[in-house]
Amino acid sequence: MSIFTDEQKIQLLSDLVAIQSVNDHEERVATYLQKLFADYGVEAKLIPVAANRANLVAEIGQAGPVLGLSGHMDVVSPGEVSQWSSDPFTLTEHADKLIGRGAVDMKAGLAAMVIAMIELHAAGQPKQGRIRLMATVAEEVGELGSQVFYEQGYMDDVSALLIGEPSGYNLFSSHKGSMDIKLTSRGQAAHSSMPELGANAIDPLLALLYQANRDFRQTDRHNDFLGDLTFNTTVFNGGNQVNSIPETATAEINVRTIPEFDNDQVTTALQRLVDRANGQGAQVEMAVYMSQNPVQEPKDSPLSDLAARIGAPFAGGVIPKLALPAVTDASNLLKDKGHQFPFVVFGPGNESAHQVDEFVDRQMFLDFSTLYQSLFVAYLEDKRIYR
Ligand SMILES: [Zn+2]
Repeated sequence: MSIFTDEQKIQLLSDLVAIQSVNDHEERVATYLQKLFADYGVEAKLIPVAANRANLVAEIGQAGPVLGLSGHMDVVSPGEVSQWSSDPFTLTEHADKLIGRGAVDMKAGLAAMVIAMIELHAAGQPKQGRIRLMATVAEEVGELGSQVFYEQGYMDDVSALLIGEPSGYNLFSSHKGSMDIKLTSRGQAAHSSMPELGANAIDPLLALLYQANRDFRQTDRHNDFLGDLTFNTTVFNGGNQVNSIPETATAEINVRTIPEFDNDQVTTALQRLVDRANGQGAQVEMAVYMSQNPVQEPKDSPLSDLAARIGAPFAGGVIPKLALPAVTDASNLLKDKGHQFPFVVFGPGNESAHQVDEFVDRQMFLDFSTLYQSLFVAYLEDKRIYR
């Protein structure tokens, strides 16, 4: 059923882009959507996560299996606004592109899911099963919103999950995990003419990182689909004067993990290296300050097969099933779900996320708001999920 005209759909996206939810203030997006849902008889609830930050959950349908939908309400900073060809928070149409911060990552996906739910509900759909939208805060930094959905049990009865991140006409069911780790080495300052009075904080940290590079890069643990774990020191600081023995040195490391060498195993292996260095006189402390799990679900599932089939006419060809480079809220939402869970990332998209003049293709946005409706109902009516 058509409730919204194309212009109204684009206005909705425009309204969402105008709300400057730059790593904060998602509550305003959630409140806007709650009111919109209410206008069409769909109940939605805000779940406070932090000051000015609230998740939104909305449901339509009947008893039966639950199809989970998720999208984040935060956006990244527009950066240098003067480099944009138009105001980043005013959705601007140019050559069939809708330009604005968050246009593609991922307010278009979010709006398309909301439109699909409202139109389905108005048509008395789905006739079996439920559709639950879980709109999150803080996906871009920390993934706090999806953590709260997981902890509060919103995923417990979900039997398949679609995240509307900007895949375009590609399907992703797997991605690596990501970890940020800080190592702090402490020594003893001394004049560099008398180093024996001090302890150089840089030396043991360098040795440790050298060993870690070898251990994490020359491993026999591989993943054919996702590729190998990557381990990179991305920030290094130490010392403050050329003729002083450095008292502290720090290193920050980003690790991209795979199920065969996961976050817990990385923590254990690196802690062992730290302990060994400390046993030889170093004073190094390790802090894992960000940890998102790898996700690997089957490429082929009832959900991904239907998405490929229903999306193909819109895509104008076969929709490939690939591994996603980036991390998503699935790291939290799919904790406990094992490796046979139907999951796809599928939303209006292209490569312009996080860039100046970020845009979504106008027609692709509109098409997703339609094809989502066919996909959601087809999934909930698919015999395979009732076995
Ligand atoms: Zn995103």
